[in-house]
Amino acid sequence: MNGIWGQFVGNLAFVGLAISVWAHISIWFQRLFAGHKKILLGLMAGGAAIGSMALAVALSPGVYVDLRFAPLALAGMFGGPVAAGVAASLAAIFRMTIGGVAAVDGLLAIVVMAGVGLTAHSFVKKNSPSLLHIVLLAAAVGCVVIVLGAALPTLSKVQARAAAGLPTAAMNCAATMVCGLIILKTRHLELDRRILETAFSQSPDYLYVKDRDSRFITVNENMSRLYRFRSTADMLGLSDFDLNPRRLAEELYHSEQEVMRTGVPLIDSLEHIEGRDLLASKVPLRDKEGRVIGLAGVTRDITERSALERELRDSKTLLSHAMAGMSDGFAMFDKEGYLLFCNEQYRNAFPLSGDARVVGAHISDILRRVAETRERLDIDHEAVEDWIAAAGATLHINKDEEIQLHSGDWRSIRTRLAAGGTAMVVVSDITAMKKAEIALRTSAERLRNLAETDGLTGIVNRRAFDEAFLREAQKCARNDAPLSLLMIDIDRFKAYNDTYGHPAGDQCLRLVSKCLLQSAKRPVDIVARYGGEEFVVLLPETSEKGAVVVAEQFARLLEKEQIAHSQSEFERVTASIGISCAVGQALQAEPSRLLSMADAALYDAKMQGRNRILVHALDAEAAAVKQAV
Ligand code: GH3
Ligand code: MG
Ligand code: MG
Repeated sequence: MNGIWGQFVGNLAFVGLAISVWAHISIWFQRLFAGHKKILLGLMAGGAAIGSMALAVALSPGVYVDLRFAPLALAGMFGGPVAAGVAASLAAIFRMTIGGVAAVDGLLAIVVMAGVGLTAHSFVKKNSPSLLHIVLLAAAVGCVVIVLGAALPTLSKVQARAAAGLPTAAMNCAATMVCGLIILKTRHLELDRRILETAFSQSPDYLYVKDRDSRFITVNENMSRLYRFRSTADMLGLSDFDLNPRRLAEELYHSEQEVMRTGVPLIDSLEHIEGRDLLASKVPLRDKEGRVIGLAGVTRDITERSALERELRDSKTLLSHAMAGMSDGFAMFDKEGYLLFCNEQYRNAFPLSGDARVVGAHISDILRRVAETRERLDIDHEAVEDWIAAAGATLHINKDEEIQLHSGDWRSIRTRLAAGGTAMVVVSDITAMKKAEIALRTSAERLRNLAETDGLTGIVNRRAFDEAFLREAQKCARNDAPLSLLMIDIDRFKAYNDTYGHPAGDQCLRLVSKCLLQSAKRPVDIVARYGGEEFVVLLPETSEKGAVVVAEQFARLLEKEQIAHSQSEFERVTASIGISCAVGQALQAEPSRLLSMADAALYDAKMQGRNRILVHALDAEAAAVKQAV
């Protein structure tokens, strides 16, 4: 019995060794005959089965037991019908050549085992076999061997005598396990290796491994392309001295030797080769004992990246020069309201809050500082937080604003939205422009006043009155409101001038205008010098009665002044007043009639003895002396 076990173990060792050797060289074979993987597996399994049969244990003349079933079943499971067919055929031919009484049973057993392998293959289907599959297959092989031993006529007889059934089944089972595990492990290794190889060859970087003398052991395709070799194999054994100018090669050689001597990796060192910028990293490779046996290198071509970086740097420098050189303040805020960038002028434009205007600051913090320092005049100090929120919310809206600082200076703030929600802010000092604008506005106002004011008395002049008259006439006609007009002429003024002199006459005119202003006090009333010593008072929305009241008030005030006039029959300066009043249609149709009526009334007042008020109503055109002083 021990003899059988011993021979079986020897047989198992052979099958295991054969599978193992094949598993290792199969990678190389497969690379050469990539399309014939399954045939190769079949050949291997057939070869192992033959070897096993050659070392078979002879139970009796012509009856052999061995481990041929394990490789056959494995060929079926791993390689499908093609591998199973090739392996089974080889094994069958060999078995036939040996001959013997059990030859036919032996052949049958070969076919059945190939069938077991194919059945396992159909279970595994497209997935690659796992450890569980191998265990199950091994168990199946063991069982089938026992069944065959009992069922096949020649074997059953001999086996019963030799009691070799169990060892045959157990050893075939063990051989299936061992050989299956070897194939599985090799497949895993091969997969890992292929993944690494793919990553290595497909990497966009330049990858290589060098030996202790800085000669290439392996390179990826990028490397062979860089040095214009047809294949990666052409570079093996070469060194930098074969590829680069001597000085560069020496430089590279020394740096690599230094890495291997010190064991310190070189990370991201910049190399310039053939006009390209390369970023190289070199790591020492060690054997199991820790001895440095070479180095692995990764080189990245950063020529384009460097060019882009250079371009970016140049444009940044240009931009910051431009920013620094511009007279305006410039700032950029991101879409959340944080300050991304600003120039010095931006900070200087706001002297009190400049310290808060730093990169990374939020607009609300900047505005809070503005509020604290009361830098802007438009701050609502009653509700500071509301003001900050409102001012901050408009950061991302296109707008132009002009603000005045506490110092009196003015700033223009132009905000424009850019891509990605960025807000660009340009701040200009517009103090000088604003001051000029204010001065211009003031002088325009003064000029307009001058153009509309009588120089002697300071009241509205004739030109301005004419404009106001037309405007008010239209307004009253539209509103169906009465419009009254007083025309005032100083009595015997020529004589006054002659008696008291022209300057006294001027003073008298000023006193008269003062009395008129005091009589017509409503803001809408217009007191104007109509010419020489003639005045007019326009009273919008005033009836004839109201106009008479104003005229009487004036007469009283003038009387109060008691301006002596020796040449007057009244011994003092007096005035004659003509009043006209119109309303509605009459006013709209012919506003100038109001003037001629007042003039006519004035004329009549003169005719009737001066120092009196006379009314001419436009509609009735009836004259009525209201009062004679
Ligand atoms: P009447 O009672 O009929 O109105 O007689 P009057 O002398 O006032 O009338 P007249 O129109 O003849 O005289 C007007 C005078 O007013 C003539 C002119 O010397 C004087 N006068 C006109 N404008 C001015 C002025 O600006 N200053 C002075 N001092 N006198 C003026
Ligand atoms: Mg006159
Ligand atoms: Mg007069």
